[in-house]
Amino acid sequence: MIKDNFLKNILDDLAQKGLKRELKSLDGPQNARIMLNGKEVLNFCSNNYLGLADDERLCQAAIECIKKEGLGSGASRLVCGNMSAHRRLERKIAQFKGVESCLVFNSGYAANVGIISGLFGRGDIIFSDKLNHASIVDGIILSGAEFKRYPHKDVQALEGFLKNAGGFKKRAIITDTVFSMDGDITPLSEISRLAEQYDAWVMVDEAHAFGVLGEKGKGAVEYLGLDGKIDIQMGTLSKAVGSFGAYVCGSQELIDFLVNKSRSFIYSTALPPAIAAASLKAIEIIENEPQRREKLWENTKYLKKKLDDLGFDTLGSQTPIIPVLAKESKLAVEFSRRLLAEGIFVQAIRPPTVPVNTSRLRVTVMATHSCNDLDLAVEKFMKTGKELSLI
Ligand SMILES: *Cc1c(COP(=O)(O)O)cnc(C)c1O
Repeated sequence: MIKDNFLKNILDDLAQKGLKRELKSLDGPQNARIMLNGKEVLNFCSNNYLGLADDERLCQAAIECIKKEGLGSGASRLVCGNMSAHRRLERKIAQFKGVESCLVFNSGYAANVGIISGLFGRGDIIFSDKLNHASIVDGIILSGAEFKRYPHKDVQALEGFLKNAGGFKKRAIITDTVFSMDGDITPLSEISRLAEQYDAWVMVDEAHAFGVLGEKGKGAVEYLGLDGKIDIQMGTLSKAVGSFGAYVCGSQELIDFLVNKSRSFIYSTALPPAIAAASLKAIEIIENEPQRREKLWENTKYLKKKLDDLGFDTLGSQTPIIPVLAKESKLAVEFSRRLLAEGIFVQAIRPPTVPVNTSRLRVTVMATHSCNDLDLAVEKFMKTGKELSLI
């Protein structure tokens, strides 16, 4: 059958290049230690930075909400799915972020696709950092706006592009604040200044910064002292928040506009209210327990220094995302496989998620890793890195 061969040939080709992706199976909750394929391992690849995903208080908030509001939301927000938990969560996020208004989406992916394609279209131009998340790329493609990628964090190149973009109806600069595979931070002050100079909108994706960066954990915008200066702030509730969904923050007009024009918001059933209730509880915890964030950063600095001292290339990481470069895809996969055999779970990240010849292990640190956990990981990285002649 030609149909069968089509799939098999592509899968065989991926496997041969070391690029085939396979699912691993988790049993039990998500935290620093997990049951993977029936064995307990140390988890160094979760975005559950603060260890909230299995927090008893989040679970309890969800259970309480189910008792009051039931499980399903029944319809999209605009039809009859705008439940009390959604509205409470949006008020909380707006207050926490210090913005006029907030809208919750069903996921970060849905938010980026819906925000970008709702706001921008033909006749507009969007400038996007080359390493932006795939959901931003997909949103831009769907929007039909002119799409220009600028080299990673290169504000000079960005300015060059902006200079020549006077003929477009709207100009927008979209960037991750913390880059998801490199763990570095965007030069947002410069970007914001350019945006002012060239009359461009700025949209940021705080997926890996919300709950992680800033004195209060509000994200990179707070950390960089840019509160009030960014038009569109998007972030997820699925990473440090430990729950699910995403938000966009900005002016009341922006939110009203998206309610009317954002198709992934309009044409999708609202989040289950219990998920919104759990997110709300998590944000209260983030507000009231800064010690979690402090521990996360302490762990991050400790592990990064140890990996650097061993001679690994951690690229330009500035956050709890610490890439360990292996370059070649098969080598990255073998590195990950050997670490797992030693009880350390770190995923290999390969093209097309990252550029060719930059395959890496993506180590993520959590507040709930103990000192012993970190030391064990360092020991195994040293052993395995030497075996593979990476150090
Ligand atoms: C994870 C992520 C998303 C997608 O968020 P989900 O809630 O997982 O759909 C969007 N942007 C960035 C930068 C991310 O890392």
